[in-house]
Order: sequence, then structure tokens, then C-alpha cells
Amino acid sequence: MASDVVDRLTAADPSGGVVVPRSADFDRRRRIWNAVVDRHPAAIVRPTTADGVAAVVRAAAECDALLSVRCGGHSFPGHSTCDGGVVMELSALTSVSVDRATGRCVVGGGALLGDVDHAAVPHGLAVPAGVVSHTGIGGLTLGGGMGWLSRMHGLTIDSLVGVEIVTADGAIRHASAESEPDLFWALRGGGGNFGVVVAFEFQARVVGPVSAGKWVYPLADIHDAMLGAAELAGGGPRELTISFSATRLGVALTAFWAGSPSRADAALAPFGRLTAAAAGRHGPVSFLDLQSRNDHHSAWGRRYYAKGGFVGRLDVALVDCIAEAVAEGPTDDSEVYVPQLGGAVADVDEDATAYSGREAGFYWLVEPIWDDARADARCLEWGRRHGGRLAALSMATNYVNEQADTAGDFPEQAYGSSKYQRLRSIKARYDPANLFRLNANIEPAGVRGTAVPAPVGGPTP
Ligand SMILES: Cc1cc2nc3c(=O)[nH]c(=O)nc-3n(C[C@H](O)[C@H](O)[C@H](O)COP(=O)(O)OP(=O)(O)OC[C@H]3O[C@@H](n4cnc5c(N)ncnc54)[C@H](O)[C@@H]3O)c2cc1C
Repeated sequence: MASDVVDRLTAADPSGGVVVPRSADFDRRRRIWNAVVDRHPAAIVRPTTADGVAAVVRAAAECDALLSVRCGGHSFPGHSTCDGGVVMELSALTSVSVDRATGRCVVGGGALLGDVDHAAVPHGLAVPAGVVSHTGIGGLTLGGGMGWLSRMHGLTIDSLVGVEIVTADGAIRHASAESEPDLFWALRGGGGNFGVVVAFEFQARVVGPVSAGKWVYPLADIHDAMLGAAELAGGGPRELTISFSATRLGVALTAFWAGSPSRADAALAPFGRLTAAAAGRHGPVSFLDLQSRNDHHSAWGRRYYAKGGFVGRLDVALVDCIAEAVAEGPTDDSEVYVPQLGGAVADVDEDATAYSGREAGFYWLVEPIWDDARADARCLEWGRRHGGRLAALSMATNYVNEQADTAGDFPEQAYGSSKYQRLRSIKARYDPANLFRLNANIEPAGVRGTAVPAPVGGPTP
């Protein structure tokens, strides 16, 4: 029970620093980024040290309490909050230290991408991560982590050197290629299933001057824009990365260049000439600015759903499907977002990490975005229907992070059977009672029926 957890933590720390009081702030703190998810935890706790995290984990395990772990709060299905359970906020663990000489960055398990960028970029370094600065490094890294630097330097997990993690028994462990290698394998793609990461150690990458261009094409030109851009980018070097955001208003194409500034114009300009109707421009940008350019579009407190998938390449059938989806888009902001992958992501062997889908050339994401709760049914239906149509054209494996529907057999499908079985064995070693079950859940080997289905638009059952 959550109240037993609170009693235990209060007895252990009478000054009451960890348990968040039921003040007016509680209502704000129970909320997460996606306003569709409206749950009421019994308690919110905010440990400030690894030992504090371990005390919460032990108390939750011994009291058999439902436990949510929250970093940035950006879980689409709302795994970082719950009804009647305990939410563990990691918002006190946001420090980022950068060793300029080695490029090693040690990042608190509650930090946001913006915290990491603001610490590293002034040194000419970056940890390859995502494209919205208020996303949490915790959830993003543990699922994989894709963004503008992925084609040059791989996923976020490919820059991960080790973690300090509290496992379900309350032990603080170090996992890396040398120490607890199975756990380290599972953590690179396996999500929050294996414990609470209190610190990530990354090898940051050198990032010099970068450039980007953004052009909007009319929807009527979607085939020329998407297929033309994919052909240009497919023949380009890994310093070049493109992404699309298609809505009922048009197709926004962004091209990013991280190679030599003297070649930026030649690399980017052709993306603005795919049809005569393009509107936009390109030029040098600050990497920090680029990393927060989409923050407003994906603001806190709006209503969201997401369904995504991998494809090897963009083809006519896929673009037909995207065109039909966005033509019926329920709001102006509802989008099909398509970032390019490949390059260094595919350099890593498929079996080297739990993340599955390294051979994908692109990811797609159907994402309705709306503000009025009365439109929930219509927007969720649009997302699920068009996501389902695109899924039928996509690879079997999937990315566990950018998904609103993660219950049922989704995890097994996403990882594929053989990796899923390996993940289940590792889960049985580190979390046999499935304490960490609010995630794309991997049930421990030998155990069934402990997963918590959490459909978007409904409470935690
Ligand atoms: C606006 C937006 C932009 C996004 N952009 C990208 C992108 O560019 N690239 C990309 O790859 N993904 C992207 N995503 C998907 C993102 O990776 C996932 O939503 C991710 O789960 C968010 O992590 P979080 O820490 O903010 O979420 P939270 O809701 O806090 O946590 C999500 C899950 O991770 C677990 N978790 C979080 N921190 C820890 C920790 N320290 N230890 C153990 N478990 C932990 C939680 O238990 C929970 O199950 C985006 C999502 C959103 C909403």
C-alpha cells in the first residue's frame, strides 16, 4: 500500500524531506506532460540521493505498492504517474558534470535533455539525444534515444558508458560493459524495467558548427517532397539528416548538416528545390537553439497520442498512407513525423543491445495533438487508425519509447521473440516480482499476469 510506504519513509526521515506534502503543489506535480493522462497517486516522493532512491525502492517493494518512476514526465502512456500508487520524482537528481579532457559526462537520472545540452555544448560537446529540450534523459536513454546526431554518432545508448542503478532489491549497482554486462545490455533499449538509474555516464561527442534548413511544401506536393528528399538524403553522407512533419496544412521538411561548414550550402540547398512551391531557407544555426526549436510545438499540458514504427525506406505506398492520414488530420497540429535514421545507428550489431530495429532507414510517428478534452475520442481514433495502417507497411520490431499503446503483446513484438526471452530472463534476475512494471513491461521469466495495462485515455486499472 502507498500509505505504508509514506509511513516508512516518514519514520526513517522525520524531517519529511522526501515525501511531498499534500499542499496545493501536489495537484500540479501529479500531472505529466500528456494531459490525456489524469491520474491520482496516493503519494509523491522526491529523493535527493542514490541512498534515498534505494530507501523508496525498498519501501515500495516491501509494501507491495504500485511505483511510478518519473524523469521528464514525457511518457506518452503516462507510465510516470499512476492511480493510488507512489510516484518517485527524480527532479532532485539533475546535475550534469562534463570532463572537457575526456568528454565524459555524468548526468543525474532526473535531468532533462536541455540540462545536458546546456552543460556540454559550451565545451563543443554533445550527448546525442532527442529533439525537444524538456524531454527527460532517463526515459529517452533507456528506450534508445534518437535525434539529430544519431546518423553521425548513433543512438543515445551508443554513447552510454555505464550507469549507477538501484535495482528492485534496493541495491545500488554499477552496470557497464565490464560490470553486470547482461543488465547493461538490457538497459540499452529495455526501458525502465530493471531499476532506477540515478546516474548515467556518457561519452559525449565533438560537435562543431552546424547548419539547418526548413522548408514547407503544400500537401499536394507531398510525394515529390518526401520521396525527393529521401532520395537526396539517402545518397548523402551521415553528416546529413532529414526529418518531415506532415500535417493537414503542409509538409515541413527539415535538413540538418553537421559536416564541414564550407559544404553546408551544397548539402542543404537542394532540399528547398524539390518543387517550385517550397517556402523556407537554410543557414548556420546554434545547436542549442536547434535543440529547443520544437519545445513550443510539444508543450506541456496539451493532449497527445502517439503510435510509431520503423521502415527500411520511404516508398510511394507509405507516402500515400501519410498523405491520406494528414488530409483527415483532426487538428492543425496533428502530424505524421518522420525522422531519418541509418548511418551510425546501423553500425552497431542488432544483438549488441536490447534496442531493436537498427536497420531502419526511417521512423514514423502518427501524433494527434489537441487541447479540448471533448475531442479525445476523435483524436485517439485518428491516431490509432492511421498508425495501424502505417504499421501494416512497417518492420516487425519497434521503438518502445514513442508509443502510447504499450500493453499486451506490444513489448514482445517490439523486441522480437528471442530478445524478449533474453530480457525476461534478465528481468527475473533483477526484478523477479515486477516492481518496475509501469513501462513497456517485460514480465519476468516464469511469471505472467503482473503487467499493468495502462490505455491512454483511461485510469490505471
Ligand atoms: C515532446 C516529446 C519529444 C520526444 N522526442 C524524442 C526524440 O527526439 N527522440 C527520442 O528517441 N524519443 C523522443 N521522445 C520519446 C521519449 O524518449 C519518451 O517519451 C521517454 O519515455 C521520455 O522520457 P522521460 O524521462 O521524459 O519520461 P518519464 O515519463 O519520466 O519516464 C518514462 C519511462 O521511463 C522510465 N524512467 C525515466 N527515468 C528513469 C530513470 N532515471 N531510471 C529508470 N527508469 C526511468 C519511467 O519509469 C517510465 O517508465 C519524445 C517524447 C516527447 C513527449
